[in-house]
Amino acid sequence: MSRQSFVIIGNGPAANQAAESLRSQGSEAKITMLSKDSFRGYLPHLLPDFISGSIGEESLYFRPHAYYKEKNIFLRLGQKAVGIDFSKRRIFLEHREVISFDGLIIATGGKPRIPEYYQLFEDLMLTLKTPQDAKLWISKLKSVDSILMLGGDLTSLSLTRALLKMGKTIQFIINEDSFWPIPYSEEIYKAVAQRLESKGVQVVHCNKIRRVTQIDENLIEVDTDTCSVRTGAIGAFFGLVPDVRFLVRSGLDIDRGILVDEFLKTRFEDVFAVGDCAQVYHPALRNYWVSIGYQNAATLGKIAASNLLGSDLEALVAPESILDVGGVKVNTSWWTEF
Ligand SMILES: Cc1cc2nc3c(=O)[nH]c(=O)nc-3n(C[C@H](O)[C@H](O)[C@H](O)COP(=O)(O)OP(=O)(O)OC[C@H]3O[C@@H](n4cnc5c(N)ncnc54)[C@H](O)[C@@H]3O)c2cc1C
Repeated sequence: MSRQSFVIIGNGPAANQAAESLRSQGSEAKITMLSKDSFRGYLPHLLPDFISGSIGEESLYFRPHAYYKEKNIFLRLGQKAVGIDFSKRRIFLEHREVISFDGLIIATGGKPRIPEYYQLFEDLMLTLKTPQDAKLWISKLKSVDSILMLGGDLTSLSLTRALLKMGKTIQFIINEDSFWPIPYSEEIYKAVAQRLESKGVQVVHCNKIRRVTQIDENLIEVDTDTCSVRTGAIGAFFGLVPDVRFLVRSGLDIDRGILVDEFLKTRFEDVFAVGDCAQVYHPALRNYWVSIGYQNAATLGKIAASNLLGSDLEALVAPESILDVGGVKVNTSWWTEF
């Protein structure tokens, strides 16, 4: 029998833990990891500290190239998967190469989302997911002292904390789309607004942004339905949406992420989904939960690797640790005290 070939799409915490677990459990399969990023795997939760200068760039990357060589893992950076044919077990890459697999773990994580009605102003907004994004922030912050944050997700709070530490002035607009995947409520709005104000952040209470005008390189004017705000830069933080668009017509079941059972299996044999891109079934709740946080991602990566090798491990989560927020079930290993 020919040697098995496993592919992991992704190079974040979930993917790396999956690869590590496949090897530590003795698998001799060929393991290929695909990452659309051209840089090594990094830890997104350290980006705010990198921006504030608390850590250097090298601390962001969690595995040296030598690690992959040593473990005989074929790491392919800058190789974006753009489609999968599950019946033929083939992955299509952006540069038109096609690779095949016997087993597949999808760990494509999340990407910043900008609600449709803000997309018109997208070019004037900074997001934060990759080291490249962080470098854009660092460069911008050299010449501006005031930042307008649009959002309210956990990422925005982490960055706000870092920006305050740098002595920056922050204005914040929270709106109904701010808390993805958690639905908006007045209660959440008030709690977040109060917390921000207690830290010296100015919350701009408004419902809508009408116009965004770039006055000069370091000055942007934002007209809302209640007031006009001047700022040096705008950050957009409306949660991380699962990076699964390329799979929409693949036959996978997709809701807020790729739907998997409690064993992290998709509807296709030997195909698993883990981390921020997955939504996991909970038999006791009879519902799917969304995973938030790098520790959860790594745990799911480990379980999927075991199951790909033939185990039957469940992603066991006590029902009481799954939050029900407005009907969305959330399991988070990330809670940030702001
Ligand atoms: C600024 C910021 C701060 C955060 N702070 C915290 C925190 O304090 N605590 C915490 O627990 N969590 C935090 N998080 C969330 C945490 O980083 C995520 O939960 C975690 O990274 C999820 O891991 P993952 O492996 O599922 O996905 P990701 O880390 O998103 O990795 C996804 C990988 O998939 C690759 N990929 C995507 N699409 C494709 C494709 N089509 N083809 C090939 N490769 C692809 C990407 O290149 C990437 O390598 C933070 C996130 C951000 C952005």
